[in-house]
This record gives sequence, C-alpha cells and structure tokens, in this order.
Amino acid sequence: MILPSIFTDRMRQDLGDDFQVFLEALGEPPPVSIRLNPAKASQEFEGCEKIPWHPDGRYLPERPVFTLDPAFHAGTYYVQEASSMFLREALIQSVDVGQAMRVLDLCAAPGGKSTLLASALSSESLLLANEVIQSRVPALRMNLEKWGHANVAVSNHDPSDFRKLEGFFDVVLVDAPCSGEGLFRKDQSAAGEWSEQNLAICEGRQRRILSEAKELLRPDGVLIYSTCTFNAGENELNVSWLLESGDFDFLPIQLQPAWGIADKKLGYQFFPHRLRGEGFFIACLKKKAGAESLFRSKNNGLGDWQRLKTKEITAFSEWLAAPEALAFFQKPNGEIVALPENLTDDCAMLDRVLRKRSFGTVIGTMKKKDFVPAHTLALSNLVSTNLPAVELDKMQALHFLKKDNLDPAGLPKGWMLARFQGHNLGWMKVLDNRINNYLPNEWRIRMDVKFE
Ligand code: SAM
Repeated sequence: MILPSIFTDRMRQDLGDDFQVFLEALGEPPPVSIRLNPAKASQEFEGCEKIPWHPDGRYLPERPVFTLDPAFHAGTYYVQEASSMFLREALIQSVDVGQAMRVLDLCAAPGGKSTLLASALSSESLLLANEVIQSRVPALRMNLEKWGHANVAVSNHDPSDFRKLEGFFDVVLVDAPCSGEGLFRKDQSAAGEWSEQNLAICEGRQRRILSEAKELLRPDGVLIYSTCTFNAGENELNVSWLLESGDFDFLPIQLQPAWGIADKKLGYQFFPHRLRGEGFFIACLKKKAGAESLFRSKNNGLGDWQRLKTKEITAFSEWLAAPEALAFFQKPNGEIVALPENLTDDCAMLDRVLRKRSFGTVIGTMKKKDFVPAHTLALSNLVSTNLPAVELDKMQALHFLKKDNLDPAGLPKGWMLARFQGHNLGWMKVLDNRINNYLPNEWRIRMDVKFE
C-alpha cells in the first residue's frame, strides 16, 4: 500500500517504537465482522469469535458474499467494522439507556451506528437518524427498515437546519466526516485522497458540525464525537476546543486492558496493531448548562398526515403484533404509517422544524376495503407473528430476493410472508396458478446468482 509520506512521518513520531508493527498491521487483511440484530435472533454465526466490547459483535473467519445470504436481507445482522461497535460501550457508560431518551445521529448514513443505537436504546426512546447528503439517505433508510425498529425517524438536513431544536436532545452523536486515515487498509482510495489540505478542510467541517450539535443538547445531555482517523487535529484537538467553550465536562470511559484501546486523555483511539479493528476515535462529553427545550412537545399533528380513527384501524390491526401501543397516520399518498403512541408529541415537534423527514414504519395502504401490506411491515418488529407464512430454503429465498416466480403448488391462497430461517424476507400473494412477488424493485438482488 502506498501511504502519503507526511502521514507516515507523523505516525512514526506519534507511535515511536510501535510504528513498525502499525505499518505491518496496515499490510494485513482487515478483519471481517458483523453485529447481530438482537430483535431478530439467529443461530447463523453461533460459534464465531466474539468482539470483546460488544455482546452482539462477531468476527467471521472469512468474508462471505453477504448478498447471497438471505438472512442478511432479512436484517438479522449488519456488516460493521469492529472498532466502531465500541459506541455501545461509550453510550451505556455515559447515559442510562433504560430511560426514554431523544437521540440524534447527526451524520448517520449508511446507518451502521444508527442500527447500533436502535438496538441499544429503550423502545420508548426516539432515534432521529439524519444525513445531509440526499443520495446517501435511501441506503440509511433501507438499513434502518431492515433493522426493524419503529421508534426511528429519518431526516435529510444540514446540521444548521436543526437550530430550532435547541436543547431538545438527550444524546447527540457526531460520527463526523473525516480524513479516514483509520480506513486506509480497508479502502485504499482513502490513502490516495489524503492530503494536509484535506485534513484542514475536515477539521473546519467538523467544528462547524460540532458547533451546531452542541446547542441541540439539553443540560446534562451527552455529546458523542467519533471519527475513523488518527490525527489529533480531527480528534483530541476538537474535543479540547469543545471543552474550552466551557459548556462541557469530559466523560471518561472505563477500559479493560485486554481490549487494547489507547487512552488519549481526551478520547479513546483504536489502532489496528493493538486490536482487531480499524482506526477509530471516540469521546463523550457532558453538557453543563444551556437551553432547555425552547418549546414543549405538544401534539399538533404531523403536518398533512391524517391520524386514523379506531374504526379505520380495525381494517389492518390483525397484521400487527401490538397495535394498541401505536398511533396510525395516513400520508397524502395513501401510505399508512405506524408510530409508537408515546413518540407522537416529539415527532410533531420535529415535524414543525424539519421539512425532509419521515417517522415510524410504513405498514401499507388501503385498496378500497382491503389492506395491502408494505415491504417495510414484513421487515418490521411490528408485524404479527401469526400471519400465514412459508419457510423457504436458501435457493428459494434467493429466487424470491431476485423477484423470480415461485411455484404456488400446495400453498393456500392470499397474502403470505416469505421466510428464511424464521425471518421475514417480504410478501407474496398466492393466486390460483401463480405467486405475485411483492418485493420492491429497489430491494431486489441485482447480482448474478448461479442456481445449481
Ligand atoms: N455514522 C455512519 C455509520 O456508522 O454508518 C457513517 C457516517 S460517515 C463517517 C459521515 C457522514 O457525514 C457521511 O454520511 C457524510 O455524508 C456526512 N456528512 C458530510 N458532510 C457533512 C456535513 N457538512 N454535515 C453533516 N454531515 C456531513
């Protein structure tokens, strides 16, 4: 791997005797790791080595073709670099995750940390996953839909668009865009794009994002700052800049020596020669004072979304595991959205501030008197477990995911969930002589699959 000499000179100076082992580690293949979805328990990776700092993290002995694993499409796991899973430990040491909280993931796409947060937070909490770059929002949305949690909102805004939500959040995560030094061995193009000039641009951007993020926290709220880079300018110096504002206290995280994580005093650094993961930096800060929420949450409705009445809900309530805890809204395009009832006030508040946003889970539409289920309902933790379903073997599941025709022989007519190892993949409608496959095109496997 060709590394920029200014980068290697700096690392040599920072790491001293460790520099040579660091360089050797960069020449090694990166470990392959996944994080299991506790809401979609699966035996698939039983026996794989555990990641020391996350109970659901697993190292895989080799990199499978994830696209060819139907369980991946069912959302039973997320492919995530091991170091970044430390976010859970940082979170649980900094806040009481058993409490209902408002959590903002400000730089969220493609959703690795948002899915981790969704699993770590209580179901009464609200997670808002925001991504400023519009083209990156669909992947974020799909990853969260696959993960299945209903207490999630997604938005597409610049950090400065959140100003009216001053003091609103209990936790704000800034997983900042950075120079990516910690990903050089995973993504060699990152080394090619590295320059001192780019470093300075990253630092400026990070401070702009942080200066917005810090205002969004309530007093005693927690700011979590992370990057996937090694240099102090983007890491510790940004943390000390926040501390100099006088608005924050640094929150130390207890480390186990066996984890191999370096304590940099103003944050924690992951080096690939000290542990099995990529370069990563994380720090937590507690807000001292500042504005409480400027306005109390008050349910003024969700813009042009119509709240459905009890009578209207009976048409589809049997499709849901626990409809009584949910509020239902119909969007102008006819889609019905389910949202945990306890989050409607907070979502109404977000709705007043954010234009490009969505809340909860789209569960379907009404076609005259009939309910037509949405793909997102099949993947959601809200779906009833008592609906007609057919268990597919791996080949059948891959055919389903390629949107191929399946044989209706022996199946009862009507809507049916396609399942793989007990996990929903999507909807089928069984007719007299064919099956309609309701997998949306954008979810279809595009890769060539060799069927024996
Ligand atoms: N948190 C994500 C995850 O775990 O999957 C990765 C986030 S990535 C390190 C940083 C994100 O910040 C990118 O999605 C990028 O589009 C976004 N970003 C870029 N410029 C930004 C800006 N000025 N303000 C906020 N976010 C920005």
